[in-house]
Amino acid sequence: MAQDRQTEPWSALLDAGLADGRLVREAHEGPGRAKLVEPPRELHPDVLAALQRLGVERLYSHQAEALHSAWQGPTIITTGTASGKSMCFNLPALDVLCRDARARALYLYPTKALAQDQARALASFGLSKRVRPAIYDGDTPREARAEIRKSANVVLTNPDMLHVGILPNHAAWADMFANLAVVVVDEAHVYRGVFGSHVANVLRRLRRIAAAYGTEPRFLLTSATIANPAELAERLTGLQDVRLIDDDGSPAPARRIAVWNPPLTDEALGQRRSALGEAAELLARLVREGARTICFIKSRKAVELLSRLVKEDLQSTHPELAELVVPYRAGYTSQQRRELEGRLARGELRAVITTDALELGIDIGALDAAVVVTFPGTVASLRQMWGRAGRSTIERRGRGLALYIAGEDALDQFFCRHPEDFLQRPVEAAILDHESPLIYRQHLLCSAHEGPLSHDDAEFLGPRWEAHAEILLSSGDLRRRPGAASGTYVPRRPGGYPAADVSLRSASPEQYAIVDVSSGELLGSTEAARAHSTVHEGAIYLHLGRSYEVRELDLERRRALVAPFGGDWYTQPKRTTDTDIVRLLDRREALGVTLSFGEVSVTDTVLAYQRKGVADHSFRELVALELPPTSFATQALWFELDSAQLENEIPLEALLGALHATEHAQIAVLPLIAMCDRWDIGGLSTNFHPQTGSPTIFLYDGHPGGIGISRTAFARFEELCRDAHALISECPCSSGCPSCVQSPKCGNLNEPLSKAGARLLLERMLGGAAHAGGAGDAAAGADAPPDAARAIAG
Ligand SMILES: [Zn+2]
Ligand SMILES: [Zn+2]
Repeated sequence: MAQDRQTEPWSALLDAGLADGRLVREAHEGPGRAKLVEPPRELHPDVLAALQRLGVERLYSHQAEALHSAWQGPTIITTGTASGKSMCFNLPALDVLCRDARARALYLYPTKALAQDQARALASFGLSKRVRPAIYDGDTPREARAEIRKSANVVLTNPDMLHVGILPNHAAWADMFANLAVVVVDEAHVYRGVFGSHVANVLRRLRRIAAAYGTEPRFLLTSATIANPAELAERLTGLQDVRLIDDDGSPAPARRIAVWNPPLTDEALGQRRSALGEAAELLARLVREGARTICFIKSRKAVELLSRLVKEDLQSTHPELAELVVPYRAGYTSQQRRELEGRLARGELRAVITTDALELGIDIGALDAAVVVTFPGTVASLRQMWGRAGRSTIERRGRGLALYIAGEDALDQFFCRHPEDFLQRPVEAAILDHESPLIYRQHLLCSAHEGPLSHDDAEFLGPRWEAHAEILLSSGDLRRRPGAASGTYVPRRPGGYPAADVSLRSASPEQYAIVDVSSGELLGSTEAARAHSTVHEGAIYLHLGRSYEVRELDLERRRALVAPFGGDWYTQPKRTTDTDIVRLLDRREALGVTLSFGEVSVTDTVLAYQRKGVADHSFRELVALELPPTSFATQALWFELDSAQLENEIPLEALLGALHATEHAQIAVLPLIAMCDRWDIGGLSTNFHPQTGSPTIFLYDGHPGGIGISRTAFARFEELCRDAHALISECPCSSGCPSCVQSPKCGNLNEPLSKAGARLLLERMLGGAAHAGGAGDAAAGADAPPDAARAIAG
């Protein structure tokens, strides 16, 4: 083992990290032998011949298993990065296409770049007489479209195009729908949250239209490793009994996994050396040692900054190496990406630095080292990025370093303290809710335009479709078809095109457009419910890793005018929030509190915003705003605490800080249970809620209608509290820091917060150890006068 270490370019670096404690955890993976099997004899002879031409004499065991499973029923494959997942759906698809000259396949990709890569992979089989793939997306020239509809038998597209271009025009695609044998959904874990809830409806519409043309296509999905792959596949497609293939038969490389924490510079305040500075030093070192490295970091600005720091570091010792470090930008064509891959493979480049947003679009194979700077939000994506390490280099075959450098955020530091938990199990479940009412009704209306809604649709649209149809009836969007059987609904305005008004990235149809005034370009849109807090005047708005400053928020015309921003600050809004319980859906006793789940109405008023320095989060300025309140309906869990019991331990003036800090800690760790971003979750803590009559903490879905996050948190509340308690009690800071109870999105600018109070409160709930000496600021002043009822917005 020690011998091995000497031969690796990162040996000295890891030894140094081990010595000074920055390397907090080291693990080894592999090497594992490939499990190889003969290609099944039942495969069509042309496909078998194509495999031989490609030099594929045997398949990995999971590829053969996937093929057999695909012949039987719907299947999802979740083997590792670069394990040959595409072969798992290409073989059954090609087999069908070779057997039946009329059969068609539809491949769905979340990004255009991935569709391009797959079209190339399909072409490499050399079955051009029988297999005619074509990409059909927003870039496809109008004049080419009719020909693709007529002659392509593999159509590669994305969910947006399927939703807005293909399904509403199904008559033009009649030939495809009438012969649709296979639907491939690659990278299915991307379809979660709001986007996933939409895509689940789009796939149900697809099954409904296919059935109208007499076909029932076989669904084949792939996903990164998540906690609930089969469930995700079933929720996405509406199908039952989806088979799971997860026993990876590809050869695992010998990979060293390193979890790296920048050193503390101030323990009491929880301050550490910046992850960026640490990453620059480590990258420069890897480059000098000859490791070919890919580095992932969050924003485009960080990519530029890190590239500059690494180059500067190298300039001083090895100026010739500085040229071999390049930032990788969005929007490369697949040809440009292949060029880059070639230059890396030939050693003409040493390090590529890219945003994690491009994780899916990148196809530059595998390298010696994969470095991930700050937690990418989910363990699933961290693993995917790590999977780039140690696959392909010839002279060091199967050796790799997967390095993660922690930032200061709560999840980053939690990860550093519990690396085993993260490394050993897929922790997150991909959550979506196709019946989220606002999302569901938008697609129900689209469905009505694609064909009258009737009893038969329960099979595709679910048993409650008619109740939703009745709501669209009363809003004037649908009408009953006169003379037809009862329960047949058609659009009120048959000439309308509702799909054009539905964005798959947004929960509500109420949108604000975001327009770049410097170019006139429409950058995107945001939900009306979030507009005041995300694109108020003066807000710094991040889009595809690039910063913009909002010049004007036009409430009347529902648009935000923005301009590119080069400054060094970001903004955080200050707001007040009220939650009104509308309907109780579920309730249980948990950890000594009454835990409820239901519908709430959230009313927000954005009062002001803070400017803070990007480099050190320092406060610069508070700017007042005058904006009217906004409301939206969503789902929430809330739990009520017994104020009489609490009074003995937490004085009233500390109670609010304790509740608030508890809420922050719970929001921070919730993404570990329900795969989402902390920005998808809202919170409110109050020492007296008028409806519950008690101190109450609310956690709610931040999107109108809800997408299943708080429902999951309700079901797994005990776990949530345990994680939140661990987060707080293990953080070395004295009274709260960004790694535990402070939140980058707090509507009350992190005031008041009591770390000790939150710890005590959670310990009480968990029935944990005695709180001797643990109460800190909460223990003082037990006789303080009662505070007025106050509520703190997450
Ligand atoms: Zn802390
Ligand atoms: Zn807060």
